Amino acid sequence: MRATVDHSRCIGCGLCTVNAPGTFELKDQGGYSRSEAIEDTSRENWVRVRAAADCCPQNAIRWEKP
Ligand code: SF4
Repeated sequence: MRATVDHSRCIGCGLCTVNAPGTFELKDQGGYSRSEAIEDTSRENWVRVRAAADCCPQNAIRWEKP
């Protein structure tokens, strides 16, 4: 699975880091918190990544299966 975060949409709310802590983490980018996604995540994480994408208030998370 590959997950990415659209930084032009992300508001740094942190919900994705709660839903899929192994995949997303918040980083300081020029004074703003933005989520970073590990681009290649294990197959076991895909349910959590899907939940994170569904819960993102900004619809900023994209994912695809390999
Ligand atoms: S849930 Fe969405 S808006 Fe919130 S930090 Fe994650 S990617 Fe950004």
